[in-house]
Amino acid sequence: MNRTLLYFLLLILASCQTAKQDGTSIYFAGEIVNPTNDEIVLYKGDLVVDTAQLDGENRFAFELDTIEEGLYHFYHAPEEQYIYIEKGDSLQIRLNTVDFDESLVFSGSNEVVNNFLVELFLAMEQEEELVYSYYALEPLEFVIKIDSLMDIKLKNLDALIEENELSPSAYKLAHAGIIYGSYISKEAYPFYHKKKNKDKTIHDLPDNFYDYRKEINYNGNGLTYYRPYYNFMKYHLGNLSYMSCKKDCAMKPEEMGKQLHFNQHKLKLIDSLIPENELRDNLYRNVALDYLLKYDSEENIEIFINDFQKLSGNNRHMREINNLYQGIRNLQPQHDLPEVWVQDVDGNSVSLPEIGKGKEVVFYFWSGPEQRHFHNMTRRINYLKEKYPNYMFVGINVRTDKSKWMNILETSNLNKTEQFWTKDFEDVAHTLVIYDPNRSIITKDGKIVNAFANVYRSFPE
Ligand SMILES: [Zn+2]
Repeated sequence: MNRTLLYFLLLILASCQTAKQDGTSIYFAGEIVNPTNDEIVLYKGDLVVDTAQLDGENRFAFELDTIEEGLYHFYHAPEEQYIYIEKGDSLQIRLNTVDFDESLVFSGSNEVVNNFLVELFLAMEQEEELVYSYYALEPLEFVIKIDSLMDIKLKNLDALIEENELSPSAYKLAHAGIIYGSYISKEAYPFYHKKKNKDKTIHDLPDNFYDYRKEINYNGNGLTYYRPYYNFMKYHLGNLSYMSCKKDCAMKPEEMGKQLHFNQHKLKLIDSLIPENELRDNLYRNVALDYLLKYDSEENIEIFINDFQKLSGNNRHMREINNLYQGIRNLQPQHDLPEVWVQDVDGNSVSLPEIGKGKEVVFYFWSGPEQRHFHNMTRRINYLKEKYPNYMFVGINVRTDKSKWMNILETSNLNKTEQFWTKDFEDVAHTLVIYDPNRSIITKDGKIVNAFANVYRSFPE
């Protein structure tokens, strides 16, 4: 649908917005067409607020007595989307999982800001390629393009608040989505520009290029779990770390890429910029995950973990980070494959070491509802099978209903003896340290050869 038309429709919809209920309780209900799961989980940040089951007509409802105002998200596996809730809100959604985000429509109190957030999400997704093409431009031209994309969205928001009443915090959220979504591109510009133009060095930037940084809010304040803001913070820290290393450490560019050193810069920056709060903990966690998953030497990892402990020993994610660290150590070459249990098509339980015994195996992972990933993965695996006939390629299906998995096996030409299903994704993800959907594990006779392989990058063409 045409974007202007859609905004127009939203304005019409908005004008018949229903009133809030009295009191502080909230009501959130809706209908899921083509459900991929039988429940909806409501989250505030990384905490589950409540879970609702779908009824026979695929409808669900949450009624919550007291609830903190702000940004939430609801999860209908494997997808999720934001919902902004204020006291007394009564909100309904309708969505079709075939086009999850595109089909999502809110109605009820606060429908205006919620529909705007979805619209903004889709607009940004649609602009990604365009913005990527702008990275080739010179700095000033680039800024003009990016600012004009931002201005269109800000004007739409202005038009929205002329016709509707938006609370100050709802407005702030929508506004933050627009500006931080746009600032990300500016933080990324020096690096993408260099890459796109195959430059040897980072481009000199005009003095006012980073002027918007004066407006950055480092407190999180209700935005910590909002992607445009959080992703901005990640890019921003990456940019600042690179620049300060370049300036202060007099490193040669090739040395700057060294993981430990660069990540130490990031830790220090978070310490100096972000006050003690959830945002700070999450950003620290992000640096740790990023670093640990790229696997450096054991010695370097220990230095990193020590630094981390000093700066953020009481991090709310400390247990996860320690487990990850332990998990990674267990997955080093020559170690035995961990005892992870999966099921074959006949429902028999088999452990990964059993599957790998006496063979060279590449384990890879896929999930039923993620069709694009499944198709790409299948194509890639078929190619690799021909190229590397000495390996057995074993698919582990995760996060899929068992009957759905069986259905896919029937209709997709996969070799059933090479396919396994797992019920407990959390356990598998945790033990095998799966954060990347293209991750694969190469083993020989049940022992690990490379537990951090990637189906696209780890097999020479
Ligand atoms: Zn440095």
